[in-house]
Amino acid sequence: MTDTLDIKITKTSKSRLAETDFSNLVFGRTFSDHMLVADYSDGEWKNFEIVPYGEITVSPGISALHYGQSFFEGIKAYKHADGKVSIFRPDKNAQRFNKSAERLCMPTIPEDVFLQSLAAIVDVDRDWIPGAPGHSLYIRPFMFATDQYLGVAPSKTYKYIVLLCPVGPYFTKPLRVKIETHYTRSAEGGMGFAKSSGNYGGSMFPAKKATEEGFDQLIWTDAKEHKYIEEMGAANAMFVIDGTVVTPPALDTILDGVTRDTVIQLAHDFGVPVEERKVSVDELIETARNGKLNDAFGAGTAATIAPVGSIFANGEEYFLTAPENREFSQKVLKTLDAIRYGNAPDTHGWNYLVS
Ligand SMILES: *Cc1c(COP(=O)(O)O)cnc(C)c1O
Repeated sequence: MTDTLDIKITKTSKSRLAETDFSNLVFGRTFSDHMLVADYSDGEWKNFEIVPYGEITVSPGISALHYGQSFFEGIKAYKHADGKVSIFRPDKNAQRFNKSAERLCMPTIPEDVFLQSLAAIVDVDRDWIPGAPGHSLYIRPFMFATDQYLGVAPSKTYKYIVLLCPVGPYFTKPLRVKIETHYTRSAEGGMGFAKSSGNYGGSMFPAKKATEEGFDQLIWTDAKEHKYIEEMGAANAMFVIDGTVVTPPALDTILDGVTRDTVIQLAHDFGVPVEERKVSVDELIETARNGKLNDAFGAGTAATIAPVGSIFANGEEYFLTAPENREFSQKVLKTLDAIRYGNAPDTHGWNYLVS
């Protein structure tokens, strides 16, 4: 543990809190009053500051724009009934943040500095955390390269910023998903495990094509054979097959999701068997056909659980039971909400309290 992080705080003179409609929040569109910024140069992190949310000035020559040295994280903070504020498992995000940084030749941030930076900005804007059921504060830490240099080489300077967005419940109808067998999100040896900005730019075109074909989401398959399930959009693909939770292992090509890990731990708590193993498209279709696919969903911080309504593969659409009748994901959602909002014992130590 390093010493308390020295953060200069400049508060806004014009809060936008009063004019914000907290009953109609669209994910990622509303930003809080402040943001945290820090710089990296001469081999160290410095200038940690909380300033009013607003535009920043950078050179058009920064390599983040040209070569994609840029990545992000996504975390949520919750307001408890007694007014306490907690951030959900940010230590996991701190670890992943540094994995992404290393893959992109970018500087890491000590875990406790990362945690202190989140706590500080959340504390300043704690009035921005909606208290209504299903609401939370989405935290978006990110880092990008700031050297003005058009050579393809790691930058020597970087910016770290944390933004906050109040968000409402992520209601999603059961998704109509398509198994993608041409485009790929990541390949072995690539950077699929990193929350690297470029991964998302590359996924938009196939996602757009799927939307034009009438689907809500894609299920990515492996880059080599398109035989095995990888992820669902920007969420981890999870299934309940004949009473067992099954999900592909989060190795090289799959983002190691905090929600995925949380769901796995809850399954253990419930006494539900879990298998982290390859899931073939054939197995998925076969189990959907014979009624053994009890549940299928995308797991991620934004939605927690995004239920799959139907799966389209090889020219056929396979329908699943209605989400409200799926025992496992319903129980996960209920249990998780109770923990995150401070209404159930936090036996795993998942809530990082902001004092
Ligand atoms: C962020 C993300 C996830 C989900 O990770 P969480 O930590 O659960 O939010 C899964 N897959 C991809 C590709 C992601 O970007």
